[in-house]
Amino acid sequence: MTDSSYIGRFAPTPSGFLHFGSLVAALASWLDARAVNGRWLLRMEDTDPPREMPGARDAILQTLERYGLHWDGEVVFQSQRHDAYAAVVDRLFNMGLAYACTCSRKQLERYNGIYPGFCRNAEHAREGAAIRLRVPELIYRFTDRVQGEYQQHLGREV
Ligand SMILES: [Zn+2]
Repeated sequence: MTDSSYIGRFAPTPSGFLHFGSLVAALASWLDARAVNGRWLLRMEDTDPPREMPGARDAILQTLERYGLHWDGEVVFQSQRHDAYAAVVDRLFNMGLAYACTCSRKQLERYNGIYPGFCRNAEHAREGAAIRLRVPELIYRFTDRVQGEYQQHLGREV
């Protein structure tokens, strides 16, 4: 199979050195992309500065290079993409696909991780609110190469 439009990626968090499990995940992703002549991108998940370890970014890049996992293009740093994300959030709100939620974790803890939709039809200000996605009342299905057939109703199960 050759699909030069295929884009794989690896997104390490610079909170420490690359551990073996992450290296295996990077290799699998790299092989998937290279097997179809696709691109393999690298995105540094540097969104939590207090948890970052000094020197981890460079160490991760050096480890990937040492194992021959060369990425395409420039490394993307999440911390430098706030404007792009804000633009997407604006677009989702304008399309009615997102809404602001002011529920506290305390309010939601009894729902076992399934949001009951309290704010779905409210008109809360976005400032200081969580942003939730409005998902259609559909069952989503896909075939995972390892796990097989999978389906889930996002609105009711997530
Ligand atoms: Zn809410």
